[in-house]
Amino acid sequence: MMKETEMKPCPFCGGKATVKVCDGSGSFYTDIGTEMFLGRKMTHCLIRCERCRAKTQAYLTRRGVFNAWNRRADNEQREAD
Ligand SMILES: [Zn+2]
Repeated sequence: MMKETEMKPCPFCGGKATVKVCDGSGSFYTDIGTEMFLGRKMTHCLIRCERCRAKTQAYLTRRGVFNAWNRRADNEQREAD
């Protein structure tokens, strides 16, 4: 399988960001890279910083949430310059 796009570090604290997947119940789970996990179906996902808990909005696809996270990381870095 192809590796997902590299995630940028958190734009706020530089911490490690991770993908969280949701099954529609409002609970988040660690992403294992598949649509099905623990017998559940992924309905949406978001990216959250493990250090400061900054997170994106929920997106339907990993591609969408990756783009959103990386775009924000770019924006924040530009504003900080
Ligand atoms: Zn952070």
